[in-house]
Amino acid sequence: MKVTIHTERCMASGACVQACPEVFAQDENGIVVLLDPEPGSELAEAVEDAIDACPAEVIEAS
Ligand code: SF4
Repeated sequence: MKVTIHTERCMASGACVQACPEVFAQDENGIVVLLDPEPGSELAEAVEDAIDACPAEVIEAS
């Protein structure tokens, strides 16, 4: 899968990191950092959890 993020919308909640720390991290200001833009299928469910958990619709996956 391919993951993209819209960092300008990030509210620094950290929910994505809790759901999928393999793919998402936060910088020193709490803004999301994309660690892996093409995670394997074994991470698809966790990425979907991160998308659902994000309060600001920052994350997209296809
Ligand atoms: S869950 Fe959404 S708003 Fe919160 S840190 Fe992650 S991308 Fe940003």
